[in-house]
Parts: sequence; structure tokens; C-alpha cells
Amino acid sequence: MSAIDDLPPLREVIREHGLSARKSLGQNFLLDLNLTARIARAAGPLDNATVIEVGPGPGGLTRALLALGAAHVIAVEHDARAIPALQAIAQRYPGRLEIVCADALTFDPRPYLGSAKAKIVANLPYNVATALLIGWLSSEPWPPWYDMMVLMFQREVAERIVAREDEEAYGRLGVLANWRAETRILFDISPAAFVPQPKVTSSVVRLIPRETPEPCERRLLEQVTAAAFGQRRKMLRQSLKSLPADPARLAAAAHVDPTRRAETIPVSGFVAMARELADIRNENSNTR
Ligand code: SAM
Repeated sequence: MSAIDDLPPLREVIREHGLSARKSLGQNFLLDLNLTARIARAAGPLDNATVIEVGPGPGGLTRALLALGAAHVIAVEHDARAIPALQAIAQRYPGRLEIVCADALTFDPRPYLGSAKAKIVANLPYNVATALLIGWLSSEPWPPWYDMMVLMFQREVAERIVAREDEEAYGRLGVLANWRAETRILFDISPAAFVPQPKVTSSVVRLIPRETPEPCERRLLEQVTAAAFGQRRKMLRQSLKSLPADPARLAAAAHVDPTRRAETIPVSGFVAMARELADIRNENSNTR
């Protein structure tokens, strides 16, 4: 018996199902169910909630989500070896756990959801964690199909997600994340909590999508930040030269001096530049 349910301890589950950790799948398992319950609680009240969990593995976080009352958990796991272990959890919580054996990078959860918004809660595989987050933050239409994400990343990635201007970790990811969501690092988890132990500390991050981010075309925002941060040590008047627009005009739209560097420009400045880029594109198409 474990701390939160009457299922076997996770070590036993891993042994029984031969779930030796595979590096290629970013497998670092959390075996302490008190810790997985702490992550699940960070997603707020779970009664009536539908949760998408990516990478349940042996099911430590899945069990916590269900024990804390999640009405419906859709667990997307790429490793077929974990499916029998997850099926035992599904039996313990009839009708509440749906197991999908798929690659989360190409999985579209929308057909699985009802009209209510889902929460995404996951201890993400580190090798695809950023790509998954960018995919969720790039959802169209916006606001998206989820109303909260509680996700575990390597600390260094978590810092990039929450970073704002003038912080060392600020870059394209911080602009996208903070344009579309309120972001916060909730707590850290030591490498010692995982099996096998990773080299670095992990952090749990909460992202709450903004209902109405400052309006601009996401692709143009990405184009501007790619140019600006692609040469982050250069002044905007140089780094923005790769765009089909006069860098001075873009900087003026953001009310910043073109001698400034990308890392000093707030999200709202990049949004203003993306809007200006749209105006320039429209002017050019009208004169054709
Ligand atoms: N949730 C478990 C825990 O907290 O102990 C396992 C977390 S482990 C860091 C990441 C999990 O994601 C593994 O179970 C791994 O097999 C799975 N995974 C890796 N790549 C995946 C992908 N592309 N799609 C879905 N699951 C994936």
C-alpha cells in the first residue's frame, strides 16, 4: 500500500513491468507519491476537471491526480511498456483514466475533450519538453482548449519560461510564454527525488493562459523575436535587418531606441514591432 491509494508502491510497479528507465525517452521517474501529490495539488481543485497528462510512465503523477479527485485523466504515453502498469490504475479508478499510447508531439487532445477546458499536468520528458510547451502556447484559436498548465522542466528551462526583460534567461521562449500566459515557478525538486537521478534540479512551472493577450499575429511576433534574439548582443538597428522592414521604424513603433538590444525590450515592445511589421506587409501588398 502507498501513501495515497491501495495500489502497490511504484518501485514494485517498475520491477513488475520491467520499466528500466530509457534515456532516449527522457525517463526520470518520481517514486514519492507525496511529491507527485504536491504537483497535482498545484493545479488547484481537480473535482470535475479533465486533465491531460503527458508521459505518465509508471503512473506516480497519474495516481496522485486521480486520488485527488480528477474526474477524467487522459494519459498520453509513448512507451508501450508502461501501458499494462497504467491499465492497473485504470481498473482502480473505473471510467476515469483514458490511456493513449502515442507521441505527444503529434497528439491532438481536442477530440477527447468535452466543452469544458482541460488542465495539462505533467512531469515532461526533458528532451521534448520545450517543443511540447511551444506547441501548446502556439495553439490556435486563442484562448486555447486548456485553462492551466502545471509542468515540470529542468530549472534552466523553467527560468527561460518565466524570464522578463533585463533578466539573463530572457529570450524567445519568455516572450512567447509571457505574451500568452501568466507564468510562475512554483517550487523546485531535487535530483535526488528521481530514479534515475538527473544531473540538474527540476522546477514546477504554472502557466495560466491570458484570455486576451495584446493583439498581434503570432507568426510575426516569432519572426521579430527570432531576428532580435538571433543576434542578441547586437543593437536592434543591426539585428532586425533580416526583416522586410526598416529597423528604425520597428523600434519607433515600440517606443525604443534602435541602439537597444533585444534582451532589454519588454514583451509589449515586441508585440508593437510585430504589429508594425503587419502594417508594413499590408502597405506593401496594397501598392502591388
Ligand atoms: N510521469 C512519470 C513520473 O513523474 O514519474 C514519468 C515522467 S518521465 C520524466 C517522462 C515520461 O514521458 C516517460 O514515461 C516517457 O516514456 C514519456 N515520453 C517520452 N517522450 C514522449 C512523447 N514524445 N510522448 C509521450 N510520452 C513521452
